[in-house]
Amino acid sequence: MGILDRLRGIDRRYWHVCYNCMMLTGHDTVKSVFYSEGPPVSVLGRPLFACPRCTSTNTKSFQNLKDEGSEAPLWGLERVVREHPRSQFIVKPVAQPPVSDGSSASRGNKETTVQ
Ligand SMILES: [Zn+2]
Repeated sequence: MGILDRLRGIDRRYWHVCYNCMMLTGHDTVKSVFYSEGPPVSVLGRPLFACPRCTSTNTKSFQNLKDEGSEAPLWGLERVVREHPRSQFIVKPVAQPPVSDGSSASRGNKETTVQ
């Protein structure tokens, strides 16, 4: 990673654009870009990031765009990202697995054998 990328705070591996959201929002970039450090889900053997807004895997990381030479759209996306606080792009997934409060959660259907 270059030093400039670090300074600008955009790690392209973790920034993604969802094309399904783009379609749904009429190309509202702010509502279609999301930040996720993963882990990616594997779809047909390819590591993909599911969109936390619509769960679609029709997404592409900024790194992908860079790799395929899509400089113009990438430039536009990164401009939008810089104009907004990062928190705006950290989206809680729609379907989230239940999280325990730190205390060891006991599974409900556990057989107890009394000695
Ligand atoms: Zn989406």
